[in-house]
Amino acid sequence: MANLWKQEGIPHKGWTLENVYDVREEGQSEDETDYETCMMCGHEKIRYVHVVSHPDIAEEFLVGCQCAEKLTDDYENPQRLEKELRSKTTRRTNFLKHKWKISARGNEYLNIDDHHILIMEDNRTHKFTVKIDDQWGNKHFDTKEQAKVAAFKGIEYYKEKGLWYNRLQINELVWKQKH
Ligand SMILES: [Zn+2]
Repeated sequence: MANLWKQEGIPHKGWTLENVYDVREEGQSEDETDYETCMMCGHEKIRYVHVVSHPDIAEEFLVGCQCAEKLTDDYENPQRLEKELRSKTTRRTNFLKHKWKISARGNEYLNIDDHHILIMEDNRTHKFTVKIDDQWGNKHFDTKEQAKVAAFKGIEYYKEKGLWYNRLQINELVWKQKH
């Protein structure tokens, strides 16, 4: 694999970190994972891919954390984002490990942080939809597992927006509104 650090015409500085992503999908084993190779140094088996761009280079580069640090001259964010991604993966795996209960209608549900998560199977299409509290998701999934991953993403979204209140916090909010 080529080492672009030694190749002329490839800038070593002035890159911007666009994104960091995990190549491994939920439920994938190590063997099934489609790892990336760092486009700068040729280091193989990159799981957490850092996407960087440069105004003089047409395509985005997929690189490992260390090359991302050097290229962006930022020794904080590439590592921080990778760490956040790692802990998100752990949270997702833990979320899916929960013991889901079966409702009277035969659907799986989970009560978590005072919230109700329901995975509902459509009797006709046999596709699955997600309901978080009173909110139905608008996507239909082929498998229950995909729907659960979507439920996790939904919860993460609420948490990021600061909207994932538990009952105690809701009571506090109501109390504050009244006083
Ligand atoms: Zn590299």
